[in-house]
Amino acid sequence: MEDMVKLYDSAPVLCRKCLEIPINEQELAETLDRYLETLPDEIRVPPEIYEARLALCADCPHRLFYTCVKCGCYVQARAAKRANACPAEERAWDRFSD
Ligand code: SF4
Repeated sequence: MEDMVKLYDSAPVLCRKCLEIPINEQELAETLDRYLETLPDEIRVPPEIYEARLALCADCPHRLFYTCVKCGCYVQARAAKRANACPAEERAWDRFSD
């Protein structure tokens, strides 16, 4: 089991199922924007927290394009919700609270 974790941590893991669906970057961004617009205000973080979280994701070695490889979430979708934490050991978002 430990070997599997090391393999996961050492290389990006891509979801083969997702790669079967052709979608370009603009379509993905628009889909994420539409999803975020559906989130009720009570579960969303304030905009300044959302932006701060995404700024950390932008420089994070665990991010692969739009995806956090630690959890498999799209970072925009994960960062938008109050209940979510950064899944990395260093828990990068913990310095921000609302
Ligand atoms: S959620 Fe955490 S581990 Fe994932 S990309 Fe963002 S900062 Fe990195």
